[in-house]
Amino acid sequence: MNINILSEQLASQIAAGEVVERPYSVVKELLENAIDAGAGAINIDIREGGRKSIQIADDGCGIPADEIETAFLRHATSKLQTVDDLAAIRTLGFRGEALAAIASVSQVTVISRAQGDTSGTRLTLEAGVKSSRETVGAPQGTVIAVENLFYNTPARLKFLKSQRTEKRLIDELVTRYALAYPPIRFRLTHNGRITFQSNGSGSVLDVLVEIYGPEIARQLLEIRDWRLAIEGEAPSSNRPSPITISGYIGPPSVHFARRDQIVLFVNGRWIKDSRLTYAVIQAYHTLLPSGRYPLGILFLALPPEDVDVNVHPTKTEVRFRGDKAPFGLVQRAVRETLVQDAPLHQAGTWPAGSQMDTGSPGWEAGTAPAPPQGELGLDWPDTAVSPPPADVEETVVPESQLPIMRLVGQVGGRYIITEGPDGLFLIDQHAAHCRVLYERLLAQAAAGQAERQVLAESTAVSLTADQSALLEQHGAQLTKLGFVLEPFGPNTVMVRAVPAVLVGCNAATLVTAVMLALERGRRLPSAELVESLLQAGCEAAAVTPNQSLAAEEMERLIHQLEQCRDPFTDPAGKPTFIYLSVAQLAREFGQI
Ligand code: ADP
Ligand code: MG
Repeated sequence: MNINILSEQLASQIAAGEVVERPYSVVKELLENAIDAGAGAINIDIREGGRKSIQIADDGCGIPADEIETAFLRHATSKLQTVDDLAAIRTLGFRGEALAAIASVSQVTVISRAQGDTSGTRLTLEAGVKSSRETVGAPQGTVIAVENLFYNTPARLKFLKSQRTEKRLIDELVTRYALAYPPIRFRLTHNGRITFQSNGSGSVLDVLVEIYGPEIARQLLEIRDWRLAIEGEAPSSNRPSPITISGYIGPPSVHFARRDQIVLFVNGRWIKDSRLTYAVIQAYHTLLPSGRYPLGILFLALPPEDVDVNVHPTKTEVRFRGDKAPFGLVQRAVRETLVQDAPLHQAGTWPAGSQMDTGSPGWEAGTAPAPPQGELGLDWPDTAVSPPPADVEETVVPESQLPIMRLVGQVGGRYIITEGPDGLFLIDQHAAHCRVLYERLLAQAAAGQAERQVLAESTAVSLTADQSALLEQHGAQLTKLGFVLEPFGPNTVMVRAVPAVLVGCNAATLVTAVMLALERGRRLPSAELVESLLQAGCEAAAVTPNQSLAAEEMERLIHQLEQCRDPFTDPAGKPTFIYLSVAQLAREFGQI
């Protein structure tokens, strides 16, 4: 076989594959160019999911008449001059590849008038080769129309996804950029119909209202310029610090089936980073029902020289230089905002989607109990994606999350009714007790070893062969939680001690529940397994739904719940209570 040098055209078609995989990526590149050009308004018009045409018009700086052809050459960019510039990129584009790549696989028409020029230029290209050029009258800015994408690369055409998929991705993309650049007015149309527009007011919240609707938008909690505390200084210190986080997060009552409502921007660039996404999810730990994901729109600002955006041609991944991944910071910013601001679950608000009063009821916080060791301080082996624990060890000194409550009574042998300053609470006694036990046991185990209670009479529990094997493997974890289980003949264990926190329930029931959890969770990473053991233990030990409780018992439980760090849900994420404000009651009675 002969070795040939590829023609320039073929070489750019091959290179185009990396930058323009699909209509969505064309929109992304053109949108970034318009933003880099300083546009105040950007209109995006898509036909047939972008296959037929993609047109993007902006009122930015425009391309000077004598540079318009150059812009379509490979490695032509006005955004980078030297290698040093690469170390601190402030624009979205910098590789000088997009226009060349897009043009090589489509038919392009561009009309542009640069700032200060009296007329514009219209240029057309077919598969990257200029086919016409003329001087035309045009407003300042640039309009690029990309038609018949991949018409000359049939192989690629064949692999295009459905119009619907492309539309969904493009909708998502445009809304993300609208969030990152609220001063820019965006308008997106598909086949002539407007599907999204932002007003360019400069307010992120206005864009959020457009995306999620006013109901969800007004429940969002704001993270205001959260800074990395320089050692020994308060987070609010005025000294400039390297990373600032701002944005909006959803309260625990707003949750989604997928994690794609966690949106991250680094210096105005929308990025995908599974570790940072995971940090946000972790911050909601035990607050959401399992399998549900929160909403979070986070903007990270850090010196451009600390982030490397030149990791991949599509520029959606970044690397944080010098291992400065702001993982722990993101988690803390989200967690603290949640703990401080999350409104209580109110009647009718679980699950998400129904009406909710705004804001938290605003009562005085009670006295702060001793800071429990949060689950973030756990020193068990982490899962592969978990953060280094050192990053997240700092716990917030909690204030009481709940108001002081007065016991009213019990209903259905299951729900405790209490009165708070502004309304009434219906507490699920089982869920609440689970939460109380869980936090106690967790705090003890996290400190090293949970307290044990040696049983006056040991109990034998029979196990399956499978469970016996698992017990051998995971015995250490159970010991750490306070269990002392001794082998006793084939497939039987003698329960000598149980976690002191869980004492009072039947030891055999407890051990059986934990063994079942061990079986179910055997493939989980260690930290998650421990968690599900903990949950199963607390489940088994908590008061049952049909237990009628004496007034003192209920009062004790209420008081314990008040002291919890996350009193709003049980460890599995279900609510511990429903709150009905006096105002809401009045509304229900038609009085306001
Ligand atoms: P890059 O964005 O990496 O510089 P592109 O191939 O996307 O590379 O664009 C090449 C150049 O064309 C840009 O550097 C810019 O000077 C010019 N350009 C492209 N789109 C626009 C636009 N919408 N407005 C003004 N200039 C543009
Ligand atoms: Mg570009």
